[in-house]
Amino acid sequence: MEYIGRFAPSPTGPLHFGSLVAALASYLDARAHNGQWLLRMEDVDMPRCQEDAPSLIRDTLHAHGMQWHTETPAQSARQTDYHDCVSRLLSHQMAYFCECTRKQIKAQGGVHNKDCRDLCTGSGAVRLLNDSPVQRFTDRFLGETVISDLHALEDTVLRRRDGLYSYNLAVVVDDIAQNVTHVVRGEDLLDTTSAHLTLYRTLNATPPTYLHIPIVKDTNGNKLSKQNHAPALRTESANQNLREACAFLGLSTTFMKQCTSPGKILDIAVKEWRKKCDLLG
Ligand code: GLU
Repeated sequence: MEYIGRFAPSPTGPLHFGSLVAALASYLDARAHNGQWLLRMEDVDMPRCQEDAPSLIRDTLHAHGMQWHTETPAQSARQTDYHDCVSRLLSHQMAYFCECTRKQIKAQGGVHNKDCRDLCTGSGAVRLLNDSPVQRFTDRFLGETVISDLHALEDTVLRRRDGLYSYNLAVVVDDIAQNVTHVVRGEDLLDTTSAHLTLYRTLNATPPTYLHIPIVKDTNGNKLSKQNHAPALRTESANQNLREACAFLGLSTTFMKQCTSPGKILDIAVKEWRKKCDLLG
């Protein structure tokens, strides 16, 4: 089977060490399988995105020697496909309108109680009618994984009240359209995988395989992120950044110490990644 993987950053700011680790893991996995590695700007939540972030991200990947095969259209350019998918689900009664406010959901104990499933209001958010959740799957690193009821049984929001499509919808519609076969991403997205797999089942599409890597945390135990003021990567330290990212992923860096370019480090890293994956069966 042809391997198609991707790195799908949300362009809310420049890349930091945590996003480098995610980029590197998906890059190495694609190369280790002689596959393709796509780049996709996940700017579906447009108000959170920064105009100059996509070019900063591309430059940083470049400086770290990670070359993508193709850049897919950004999510902001894919609204018609999201619209068509939601319309199709609505017309097949596989999705429904929900006018519940955040306040109401909070009063219901913080979990949407699905009472509005049959109201057919025709306005508000659109939720997936989740009658056959996919709650377990085999993660390539974590093995048999079961997602809690809280996440797995939810009627996922597909389109928000403000009209923006959700990440959960966009990521699945895109991965299907772009024939993605392997998803490698951070463990912070593990819980959402159930919603993604349920959507694949509803859309009658074959899901990719998943591999979730540990996330990088700051000294307070929070995920490195723009909100937590993670510093932007310094491209002048590309070799060092890559070695540290490899070490974080549990790869031996012994033979990388003398390397003078990102390309050479990556060549060794691919071999180390292969060993790691073989070890894991
Ligand atoms: N856009 C997501 C993020 O930056 C990644 C989504 C994915 O890899 O599925 O966290």
